[in-house]
Amino acid sequence: MPTSPKIFVLARPAFDAATFLKFLNAEHHEWRRTPGARAAEELVEAAGRICYLSFGQNQSPRTNEQFIRNLVRMGHESVLEHVSWTFLMLGVSRAFSHQLVRHRVGFSFSQLSQQYHDERDATFVMPPELDGIAGAPEAWESAVDATKKAYRTLDTLLREHEESFPEDLDKKETNRAIRSAARSVLPNATETKIVVTANARALRYFLKIRGGIPGDREMREVAAALLSILSSEAPALFFDFRLKRLSDGSPQVQHETDLQSVLV
Ligand SMILES: Cc1cc2nc3c(=O)[nH]c(=O)nc-3n(C[C@H](O)[C@H](O)[C@H](O)COP(=O)(O)OP(=O)(O)OC[C@H]3O[C@@H](n4cnc5c(N)ncnc54)[C@H](O)[C@@H]3O)c2cc1C
Repeated sequence: MPTSPKIFVLARPAFDAATFLKFLNAEHHEWRRTPGARAAEELVEAAGRICYLSFGQNQSPRTNEQFIRNLVRMGHESVLEHVSWTFLMLGVSRAFSHQLVRHRVGFSFSQLSQQYHDERDATFVMPPELDGIAGAPEAWESAVDATKKAYRTLDTLLREHEESFPEDLDKKETNRAIRSAARSVLPNATETKIVVTANARALRYFLKIRGGIPGDREMREVAAALLSILSSEAPALFFDFRLKRLSDGSPQVQHETDLQSVLV
């Protein structure tokens, strides 16, 4: 059966409004806040307003969302880097995570190690494209089962011949060496677990370039799950993204600029 990615929010932005208001008060600034704005949205607004000291008479009638839209429109997106989320991603493949960890800026990763973790009971993520195609799930299952069997055989054989490793290796390093060699047969489909922290600017960029690629189903699934979380956590920061469906019902993230090009 195809597996769907599972994404949990482990940490989210907090905004210490009391401290900020204390500062504003000491400097005789007044801030008209938007009722209902979330912590992440207010922190971005507060940081943005510090740039121009746009408080009191200098504050335009813009709401929090309008203020953030304007930052994005102006390209003043560094302000969005002040807010980050931490996600735990499960049920994703190593193929997916390899693409994910290419994102170097504004992302941090902690991923299950195949050198430390015994993968004898590894699970695998079946691409949903195979579902319903006669023979395809069976071909896939027999291939991944064979790799798992090979992993177990290699692990056992290497442990029986531990003397072939350099004497300098202690137990921990011997395990690492054995698992490094054995994992070489595991496929891209091997399930991984990864903790991902990213700021709003980096997440927006990720959604923009990764979320809409029609042929990349797993990436679209993850991007859509992220967008749905983020749209509820901080809608103003992701105002220009939409969740769409391809004709098979699978999700796709579209950015306003894609939508405009579709309309033109
Ligand atoms: C459709 C698609 C196809 C792809 N195909 C391939 C492929 O065939 N092979 C492959 O190896 N990868 C491929 N990639 C991965 C791609 O090249 C990037 O590695 C990945 O998308 C991360 O993007 P990034 O480098 O822009 O992001 P980040 O590393 O997060 O960087 C964000 C931004 O910061 C700036 N930046 C970061 N580092 C530097 C730097 N050193 N110098 C200057 N500016 C910098 C850039 O503006 C960059 O866009 C593909 C990606 C996509 C979306």
